[in-house]
Amino acid sequence: MKRLFIVMLGPPGAGKGTQAKKLAQAFDLVHISTGDLFRENLKNETALGQLAQSFMNKGELVPDDVTIQMVEERLSRPDCEKGAVLDGFPRTPAQADALEALLLKFGAGVKVVPYIKVADEVLVERLSGRWMSTAGRVYHAQYNPPKVKWIDDLDGSQLYQREDDKPETVRHRIDVYKAQTAPLIDYYRQKGLLVEIDGTQGIDGVTEDLLKAVEEA
Ligand code: ADP
Ligand code: AMP
Repeated sequence: MKRLFIVMLGPPGAGKGTQAKKLAQAFDLVHISTGDLFRENLKNETALGQLAQSFMNKGELVPDDVTIQMVEERLSRPDCEKGAVLDGFPRTPAQADALEALLLKFGAGVKVVPYIKVADEVLVERLSGRWMSTAGRVYHAQYNPPKVKWIDDLDGSQLYQREDDKPETVRHRIDVYKAQTAPLIDYYRQKGLLVEIDGTQGIDGVTEDLLKAVEEA
């Protein structure tokens, strides 16, 4: 069976992580978030985590070579044998080229690139209300609240706000997205892989459109 690789594209706060988890579950794939991988390294105080932290706190991208190496290692693990939903990677054309070369080695390729479109004003509101669990589950104070304020529904742990979700950093992350990641919209459109998704709908509406996009790809 051919492996299925889906690349979630969109600005920070568009809903990539929220939806990537649902797609991974629906298609029995692993969800790979490079942001989560960096945060895990940070928590475990690895050398990679320390290096990544200085970029993440400023809202800058971690250098391509470091990021690509991390993804290469992650995609080589056995749990990726059916494929993966990639969330937050690639974020530059160099990363996209590296991904293509890497998947080619597996005899695979990117199947579809859902681009979740959301206006800038909405992104700031979404990220300033985002509450995270240490296990990587994502909530929103208003749009996707936990059953008990600041407590994770599944394991009862305390939720936290990301350091880089402060409004000043969010604005910079949106600028970085526009300068370095938005060129991937045309990159994947030219390859015939891009599907535009209206990310301003409620979470369930977005999921419905995404499921359709992947099934029709
Ligand atoms: P990304 O991974 O693209 O940065 P997230 O999935 O973390 O985005 O979503 C950002 C915030 O917006 C989270 O707090 C999430 O609960 C909320 N969110 C996600 N999708 C929607 C939606 N369709 N409507 C309203 N809020 C949403
Ligand atoms: P995210 O969780 O996707 O919002 O990512 C959080 C931060 O991790 C980003 O602002 C970057 O600093 C870093 N990061 C995540 N993915 C990448 C990537 N593909 N390339 C470079 N930096 C990344």
